[in-house]
This record gives sequence, C-alpha cells and structure tokens, in this order.
Amino acid sequence: MTQATADSQPITELAEVDSRIPGLYASAPQPLPFEPSISVRAFLVRRDDGNVLVYSVDDLGSASAAFDALGGISRQYLNHGHEAMFSENPVDAPLFVHEADAPAVVETRDVRATFSRRHTLDDDFEVIPTPGHTPGATAYLWDAGEHRLLFTGDSIYLEGGRWKPGLLASSDRDALIASLELIRELDFDVLVPWAAAVGQPYHSTTDRTDARSRIDAMLARLRRRSSR
Ligand SMILES: [Zn+2]
Repeated sequence: MTQATADSQPITELAEVDSRIPGLYASAPQPLPFEPSISVRAFLVRRDDGNVLVYSVDDLGSASAAFDALGGISRQYLNHGHEAMFSENPVDAPLFVHEADAPAVVETRDVRATFSRRHTLDDDFEVIPTPGHTPGATAYLWDAGEHRLLFTGDSIYLEGGRWKPGLLASSDRDALIASLELIRELDFDVLVPWAAAVGQPYHSTTDRTDARSRIDAMLARLRRRSSR
C-alpha cells in the first residue's frame, strides 16, 4: 500500500531531462511515502528498436498520450522490487524484472518475464544485475551514442548531487560492495537513479575518473562500516 497518489499531481506530461542528452524523458517526481525528503521518477528511453521505460511511479497510465507521442513503450524494466509499491494505474507495457525481486512485484503487477543474468537487449541496452540493495537489483546501461547512461535504481542514488549507496538494514552489504566494484568498471557518463533528494538534481553527469573517485569514496565508507 502507498499513499503516494493522494498527494501527487496526475502525470500527463513527460519532461526532457537534459537538452544535452537526447532521448531521455522523465515523469514528474513522486515522494517516497516513508521518506518524503526523497522523490522518485520513471524515465523513458527513446530508442530506434523500441522505447524502454525504466523504473516505476504511480499513475503512469495517465501519461499514455505523452508516451504515445514519443513512440509508445515496448518494455518496462524495474531496477528492484521496492518499485512495486508504485503500481497504481500502471502503463500498458510488458514488465521485466530480475527473478530474485519478482516475488515482490507479482503481488501488484503482471510480470511478462524475469531474467537472472547480464545480457544486452538489441545492441544498446545492457541489463546488469547489481545485487545488494535488494537481491534482484539490476542496473541498465544505455548506449545513446553520444552518451552512455547508467540507471542504478537505489544502488546509487542522489542527495544534493552526491552519490550515495542504497544500504538498508535489509540490504546485503557485501553484495552491494561487490556490485559497486562492478559498476566502477562500467563505462558511463550519466548516472540516472530512481531516487533523488526533493528539489535537487536527479541525474548526474560524470566521466570515468569522476565516477571512479565517487564510487571509491562510497566503497571506503561501506568497507569501514563492515569491518566494525
Ligand atoms: Zn529500494
């Protein structure tokens, strides 16, 4: 259950995230019911081989016309099971999620298919399991030509522009550390998490050196805490 729709505006439009990053559109933000200082968004990735919707928020069904105007949605991918809290009035698109988080999702959504391994959709959208925040958390790396966008869900989220690891009491710290080590080796220049602090930037442009130093700082803090 979630109260998110009660206080949120209906989503009827999508916003271009950044004029320097063609093909990336965002829903309006919605507050997390249990952490209202954090808001979440869904993102449409516009691709020649079929648009992909990444993440979930409530009431995406109200934006059907906006999605159609951009070419519709061929698939929706969730990063992890917590997004199933946002299942009110969903879009009509086949839903994909890692098999380890599917049990949390099937309670509220029809899941078209699950996956368990790293693989690439067509030749530009890579599905990369990054367990830790939840067992089935999965990052998506979209090669948009000029830019390479990494969707990290809650594994890395943004707070005042800072990258933060999504370590909950229910998370597997060692798995999250291993996943951040994996993400550290990926080639990307835009970070697009599900969650960001309200009113703050919700995507982060970066480069190889900057991404590695941010991830190294997160890893150092996580390892310090795990050795206590
Ligand atoms: Zn989460």
